[in-house]
Amino acid sequence: MSDIEKLKCLIIGSGPAGYTAAIYAARAEMKPVMYQGMQPGGQLTTTNEVENFPGYPDGISGPEMMIQLEAQAKRFETDIRFGFITKVDFSGNVHKCWTEDGHEIHADTVIIATGASAKYLGLPSEKKYLDLGGGVSACAVCDGFFYRGQETVIVGAGDSACEEAHYLSKLCKKVTMLVRKNEFRASKIMADRVKNTPNIEILFNTETLEVLGDGQGVTGAKVKNIQTNEEKIIPCTGFFVAIGHQPNTEVFKDFIELDEVGYIKYAQPGTSKTNIAGVFVAGDAADKTYRQAITAAGTGCIAALDAERYLAAKGH
Ligand code: NDP
Repeated sequence: MSDIEKLKCLIIGSGPAGYTAAIYAARAEMKPVMYQGMQPGGQLTTTNEVENFPGYPDGISGPEMMIQLEAQAKRFETDIRFGFITKVDFSGNVHKCWTEDGHEIHADTVIIATGASAKYLGLPSEKKYLDLGGGVSACAVCDGFFYRGQETVIVGAGDSACEEAHYLSKLCKKVTMLVRKNEFRASKIMADRVKNTPNIEILFNTETLEVLGDGQGVTGAKVKNIQTNEEKIIPCTGFFVAIGHQPNTEVFKDFIELDEVGYIKYAQPGTSKTNIAGVFVAGDAADKTYRQAITAAGTGCIAALDAERYLAAKGH
């Protein structure tokens, strides 16, 4: 029993949601412990420049912003640990969690801020330019601005792809949308909006063979019509992928209510409460619609305040 660590507040995940929850929880004397997870800093560490987070008039790189958020959380003595939670048991009054090396934690409150991961096509050339920060992106709202006046390609046929294609169409000279089937998956209204936008060209039955570049940035996409086998090159400087996200919630699935994709369901809209009392959620693990750093940070604040009120009601 002596090896079990007892905490008032455990935060799982270290994106803007987790760090904001940590700042609020620490300032409320909840002595939060954060496990950073597989990708410390979260999805923003794969973003170049963040220009839409208020308070940074000149923009800031994603990794730099996460370093600053970490420093702010540490300033109030959040205990930030490298590692991840591999098992939970939320069946009793104490919330039990285990780290990858078997360390057992009993937490009065848990804030889940594990985020979601964008799906990519899996092409080596796509990964190359994603890693280089030179033209591959999974977020048009984050990165579209860098391609204004230029030509871009977007892959996908769901609501996200349509919304992002439409967003890009307002900034870019031309947007080519690659749809692998002969139909959209998106709702009719979203698909119609894309079809009726003059500078969006839709190529159905089309798959990406390779993202082309000059070693520094993207210069085009080599694509193939899977019905005619015709191949062609589409010039572009931005290659956007909008083929869905996978929330990182697998470890919670036996206890926390998830939707069919795996997003955590809020037990009470307008709060961060899950179906388990004392377990709260913040950020993209429960958000398939907005997915912005600022919205994640906002829900991180909500989760910490909800956790604080939960503890106060229990007399802690
Ligand atoms: P979806 O899972 O709905 O759509 C993913 C799309 O990506 C599908 O069209 C799929 O094609 C395509 N795709 C998957 N893998 C590949 C691949 N390897 N190559 C090419 N295409 C691929 O994800 P979304 O992110 O669009 O939406 C997620 C949820 O969020 C949905 O419920 C959506 O309705 C909702 N949403 C709502 C919005 C709104 O209402 N404003 C905005 C954004 C999202 P295929 O169809 O061939 O399987």
